[in-house]
Amino acid sequence: MKTIREPRLMHNESEGFRSAGKRIALVPTMGALHGGHTALIREARTRGDVVIVTVFVNPAQFGEGEDFNRYPRDSEGDLRTASEAGADILFAPETAAMYPPGYQTFVTVEALSLPLEGAARPGHFRGVATVVAKLFNITCPHCAIFGQKDAQQVVVLRRMSRDLDLGIEIVVVPTVREGDGLALSSRNAYLSVSERREAPVLYRALRIAEKRIRAGERSAAAVVAAVTSEITARSSASIDYVSVADAETLEPLSALDAGRTLLVSLAARFGTTRLIDNIHIRIE
Ligand code: AMP
Repeated sequence: MKTIREPRLMHNESEGFRSAGKRIALVPTMGALHGGHTALIREARTRGDVVIVTVFVNPAQFGEGEDFNRYPRDSEGDLRTASEAGADILFAPETAAMYPPGYQTFVTVEALSLPLEGAARPGHFRGVATVVAKLFNITCPHCAIFGQKDAQQVVVLRRMSRDLDLGIEIVVVPTVREGDGLALSSRNAYLSVSERREAPVLYRALRIAEKRIRAGERSAAAVVAAVTSEITARSSASIDYVSVADAETLEPLSALDAGRTLLVSLAARFGTTRLIDNIHIRIE
């Protein structure tokens, strides 16, 4: 595996792959690579002749007071993990190479960026869309692999790829979880021992939502109440939001009609650590 730090060099390399007729699969990450990321890299391996993993902690997607400065960084571990999972190139640019002085161009996917994570983290998806658009331009992929863990991110980036005629296929990999259900996340490293013990309540609460809906519950408010009470009764977490929305439009729902795919999603804080999780439920 080769490491590249300069956007210009990365772009030249990708142009070389393209002119040799190679299919490029991209896996954008913020590093501190774990089993969720390696699932994406393995998926990329099945879809591309060349697999490019990017590691870039993108300041533009962190709000004021968020964890940009303390976000876990592990460049040695990332090299090893990306290489073992089958990456050909690790692209890890410096911040100044991505946002040089005078930088002022941003990509905004409008309505889809507003609810859920967008409401809790204003400007977050503007940062995400901008950096992913840049990574797409630098690495020239045919497809890019993302995790279901960040469900709204997938919806926003699919819209961006369509709206800007990027022609890049957005591939989604299911959320990888610990044995107790906790979704793998670089931020899990912040959890204290007791918070870590409590954190699986998030997925348990989502499974309760699923069970209720499959048993015929059609009120979104009742589902939200069941999820909320499971979390608050069984942990010290404070809830940012619990939502039942249409999985494609992200429109909040009150009645859960047949023929839709629902996105049940939530964000909660354990101490200072903010975790997100979600599930999709198809109602036939
Ligand atoms: P991050 O490094 O957190 O920005 O994540 C990079 C990519 O990995 C995103 O597409 C995430 O959705 C994906 N990802 C993170 N955690 C998981 C997980 N537990 N399962 C599947 N994909 C994940």
